[in-house]
Amino acid sequence: MKTGFLHDERCLWHGGGNYAQMAPVGGLVQPIAGGGGLPEDPETKRRLVNLLRVAGTMEGLAEGSAAPLEREDLLRVHPAGYLDRFKALSDAGGGEIGLRAPFGPGGYEIAALSAGLVADALERVARGELRNAYALARPPGHHATADWPNGFCLLANIALAVERARARGLVERVAVLDWDVHHGNGTEAIYATDAAVLTVSIHQDRNYPLDTGAFRTDAVANLNVPLPPGAGHRTYLEAMERLVLPAIRAHEPDAIVVACGLDAAVLDPLGRMMATAETFREMTAQVMALAEDVCGARLVAAHEGGYSEVYVPFCAHAVVAEMAGLPHVEDPFAATFRVRQPGAAFERFASGLIGEMARTGPA
Ligand code: ZN
Repeated sequence: MKTGFLHDERCLWHGGGNYAQMAPVGGLVQPIAGGGGLPEDPETKRRLVNLLRVAGTMEGLAEGSAAPLEREDLLRVHPAGYLDRFKALSDAGGGEIGLRAPFGPGGYEIAALSAGLVADALERVARGELRNAYALARPPGHHATADWPNGFCLLANIALAVERARARGLVERVAVLDWDVHHGNGTEAIYATDAAVLTVSIHQDRNYPLDTGAFRTDAVANLNVPLPPGAGHRTYLEAMERLVLPAIRAHEPDAIVVACGLDAAVLDPLGRMMATAETFREMTAQVMALAEDVCGARLVAAHEGGYSEVYVPFCAHAVVAEMAGLPHVEDPFAATFRVRQPGAAFERFASGLIGEMARTGPA
């Protein structure tokens, strides 16, 4: 059985907004030459597809697309009023809703297609048709709450996938592991009172959104692991070993879905972390071993953030190749970033924070 790789060129045509990085263009903010846009850019994803092809990896994957989610699927997570507003603006040529969630003409259909890629990935893995699967979703979804689009996210891709799979009787208990550098506030909010879906987020402390993502001990089926800016390879793996993996194991899920942001990588303009492609490869290996143990290896990764055009493809390739058991490619930046990893003093400090969280433990 192969690893699925679900993607669609139409998702890369999602657009809208006129920003210079995070700042709206206007006043003293000069427009970007060639047309502004959000840092959430199609090029990171297109270069990943190109890398998979040029490296020969795609030949070993089950490549495909999927149908967009139907309105009845979207209504399992999002209220009708929000969907109507989004669709009307999309039909009228695009616009912006919520906070930093712009879209162009047809953005509604593209977002439904993005969610469809994740839903099909989970469904085909749960049905045993694929070994595991990677969905190159765009727009991303992990910040979107039921009725508040934000942070480039319009529809809650992973929650929509989980709810369709649950409605079809394919899974009951799910663990969502979000290693995007930003807190997975949308997924957390949607499942805040649902003990069947564990949401785990490992992220940079007080990056976006500022007011969510703290470690707490009173949550229902939720674990937040905020890490200090500057955390690198060893800190990520330690947090996985001591906090993340035990929490998922204790939840006894039927499937694990990774919200696979690649913006904790050292070159990312929206994060201040120091993960490398090797970090993502090793975290993937850790989760695969756990999935093998607890849920028949049922594992899906849904693409989220990641804003370095040159480095996202290598980080994502590491995840996909590891999931598929296919040869890895050489990370051309590895030599540079090995010497830029945090020093021993930082690692002792971060290890102390992780130890504190491990001792306190979620309720
Ligand atoms: Zn992110």
